[in-house]
Amino acid sequence: MHYFDNAATTKPYAEVLHTFNKVNENYYFNTASIHQAGRDSAKLLEASRKQVLQLFSLPNYTCVFTSGATESNNIAIQGTLERKKRFGRTILVSQIEHPSVINIVDHYGGEGFNVEFIRTTGEGRVDVGHLESLLNEDVVLVAVMAVNNIVGSVQPVEEIKDALMNYPKVHFHVDATQAVGKAAIDYRGVDSLSISAHKFHGVKGAGALMLKEGKSSGQIHFGGGHEYDIRSGTVNLPAVAAMAKALRLTLEDMDDDLARIEGYNHSLRSELDGLESIVIQPSDVPHIINLSFTGAKGEVVVNALSEKNVMVSTTSACASKRAASNETLTAMNRSPEVIDGSIRISMSRETETENVEVLISALKEVYEEIGDVLR
Ligand code: PMP
Repeated sequence: MHYFDNAATTKPYAEVLHTFNKVNENYYFNTASIHQAGRDSAKLLEASRKQVLQLFSLPNYTCVFTSGATESNNIAIQGTLERKKRFGRTILVSQIEHPSVINIVDHYGGEGFNVEFIRTTGEGRVDVGHLESLLNEDVVLVAVMAVNNIVGSVQPVEEIKDALMNYPKVHFHVDATQAVGKAAIDYRGVDSLSISAHKFHGVKGAGALMLKEGKSSGQIHFGGGHEYDIRSGTVNLPAVAAMAKALRLTLEDMDDDLARIEGYNHSLRSELDGLESIVIQPSDVPHIINLSFTGAKGEVVVNALSEKNVMVSTTSACASKRAASNETLTAMNRSPEVIDGSIRISMSRETETENVEVLISALKEVYEEIGDVLR
């Protein structure tokens, strides 16, 4: 199988599975139990927390372990809005956020908040000038992702931090789910940051929400008080310890991986360059390539490739559950034909030269097979 859907999820590293299994066998205790076994498990939990924060260079932040980025985004956004609703009611959000951000913001839009969408450039990056023009004393939340999951554009997180300098009331939330191991971004100073382990070769069911010192999240979960009372519920220690390991391995090898995947990205683009009706979007990270068979349906291309044992996705696994058209490409002002015919190819450290060669041949074959519908 030739797997090119790494933006949906990645294969856990063997070392990560080893950690996961070992912790399941030896530290299956509740980290909140006060007996010795519980205390030993709590020690491992704290070591994992410290490691995650250090790897992000955010040693003084609070790291709350969650089940993944969907939960982290929901806690950050709901918690912030519940806490700040007395001080202001405007939310600024990019047009190209993941549904786990857009849908909760939409919900608050129906609860009396004013939701303003920050424009996106043709390269899929948030327009900081437009953001600046939307800032005012009523704004309490700005949410912008670090790397977009559809086209791989890197967002101007550092410029946004600067733009918000004179607005201390604003909480700046960054969804860094697609950025880990793909883009070196300085997150110091952001108010909250979400990650999800399975996007960087961890196991599913673990994520984190990192909160700037002194920023508590308003409470939206009620329970036994785990994870600073922000995310109650018995902690998934095996998945958390495995996430810390996956993070270390991913960041250690990031430069080498980027160089190799950059090469694959280049081969794909140059091999398909010049084929009429094929449109390839720009991307800032090499891992993601969004490609359209203009005139065809993305699903048809995905299925045709799948029959050749090549796995890619349409827009994104999450968005494909909804009938909605692709918000990112729409925000980038692409034509309906380009949007309908788009597929996402996403690579990871596990991608090898042979996979890319097979993908290129398969794409060319599908191009021939469906040639009559292409424009
Ligand atoms: N944010 C972004 C940018 C994503 O790509 C995803 C995963 N598709 C999520 C959040 C949600 O992550 P999870 O499904 O692990 O909760």
